[in-house]
Amino acid sequence: MKRRLIALALLLALSFSHAAPAQESTQRSQPRRTAVRAARMLDVRTGAFVNNPVILVEGEKITAAGANLPIPQGAQVIDLGSVTLLPGLVDCHTHVLLQPEDERGAPPVVTKSQAYRTVQGVAAALKDLEAGFTTMRDVDSEGAGFADVAIRDAINRGIIPGPRLLVSTYAITITGGHMNNAGLNLADSRDQMIAEVRREVKYGADWIKIYATGTLRHVDPTTLEPLSQMSVEDVRAIVEEARRWRRDVAAHAYGGDGAKNAIRGGVRSIEHGMLMDDEALRLLVEHGTFWVPTLTVYLPETPEDNTDLRRRIVASHKQVFQKAMRMNVKIAFGTDAGAFEHGTQAREFRLMTDYGMKPIDAIRAATLRASELLRMEKQIGSIEAGKFADIIAVEGDPLADINALQRVRFVMKAGQVYKSTMK
Ligand SMILES: [Zn+2]
Repeated sequence: MKRRLIALALLLALSFSHAAPAQESTQRSQPRRTAVRAARMLDVRTGAFVNNPVILVEGEKITAAGANLPIPQGAQVIDLGSVTLLPGLVDCHTHVLLQPEDERGAPPVVTKSQAYRTVQGVAAALKDLEAGFTTMRDVDSEGAGFADVAIRDAINRGIIPGPRLLVSTYAITITGGHMNNAGLNLADSRDQMIAEVRREVKYGADWIKIYATGTLRHVDPTTLEPLSQMSVEDVRAIVEEARRWRRDVAAHAYGGDGAKNAIRGGVRSIEHGMLMDDEALRLLVEHGTFWVPTLTVYLPETPEDNTDLRRRIVASHKQVFQKAMRMNVKIAFGTDAGAFEHGTQAREFRLMTDYGMKPIDAIRAATLRASELLRMEKQIGSIEAGKFADIIAVEGDPLADINALQRVRFVMKAGQVYKSTMK
C-alpha cells in the first residue's frame, strides 16, 4: 500500500514537472474551463443541499456555482454522478513530517535522517490530500528543521502533489519542556524567543507555534494541572514579534495557567485544550481566540496507553468540548495527523458528532471556521465564485452519516484533479 502510494507520488511528480510549463502558458492566454456536476452539493453556509449543482471553474478559481447552471461552450465536463460535492476540507493541526511510529520509541530526530523524513513527508502529504484535505496548517516539523518549508514550496510549484500548506517550522519550547528532546528548539529568555521568531520567519514559516504547556508526562496526576511553560509576558513578546512579520501564533496548551497565559498573550488559536477550566473558556470567548481540540489523537490506541490518567484526560476533553459548544467558542477542525496515520483524520468528524456537535457544524469547523482561523476566508472554505476550486466528492449524505467524509472519491485542488475513483 505504502509502496503503491510512493510510486504514485513519483509518477504524479514526474507528470507534473513536465506538464507545468505548458499549462502555465495556456493559462496565460486562455484559462482552462471545467464544469463539475453531481447529484447534489452541500452549501456549508446555509447547511442545505443544492440539487443538480454545476460548478464552473476557470484555471484555479470557481467562477460560478449553483443548480443547473448552463455549461459554457468548450468547457470540459466532469460528471461525478450520484455523489455529494463539498468544499475541500481544512485540517488546522497536522504534522506532515511525523509518522505514527515516531511517537513510539526514540524521537525521529535521532533515528531518521532529515532526507528520509522528507521523503516520508512527501508520501504523507499525498495521503492527506487524497483524504479530501486540500489545505492544512502544519504546526511543528517535529525536529525535521525547515523541511516543511521545502515540502510546501514543492507542492506550490507543482513538483509534488499535496495540500496547500501553511507551515510553522520549529515550535518554540523551554529547556526540559515539551519537545525538548525532539524539537531541539529551546528559548528560555524573552530575547531568545524573539530571535527565534525572526529566524523562523526568515527561513519560511507561515505560522509561529509555541508550547505554552508541557505534554502528557508534564500533567500533575492529582490536579490535572499541566506544566505552564510560558508567562503571559513571554507569549506577548512572541505574539508582538510575530505580528510585525504579519504572522499568527498557535499555542499548544492543555489548560491551566499556560493556556490562560497564551490566550491573554494574544495567540490566535489554542491547540488541544482538553484540561481548560471555565475561566479559560470564558477567556477564549472574550478574546475571540480559536480552539482546535484534536479529540481523536488522545484516545488510547493500545492497552499500555489506556491508563487511568489517560481516561481522565479523555473524559475531560469531552466535557470541555461540550461546554465550549454551549459557550460558542470558535472551534476549528484539527487532528494532529502524523501522530496517527496520515489520510485517516476524517475520523475526527465522527468523534465531534459523538460528543454532540451537529454534523453541519463539524463540517463548518473544517471549512468556514478553519478558513477564518487561517485568515483565508476569501480564498477557501466554501464553493463560491472567486475562491479556489477546492472541491471534494463523497459517497452518501454526510449530514445523515458523518462517516461519509471518510469515503472521499474525488479531490480537486485549485482546479486540478488529484483523485477520482468514480465508477
Ligand atoms: Zn501536534
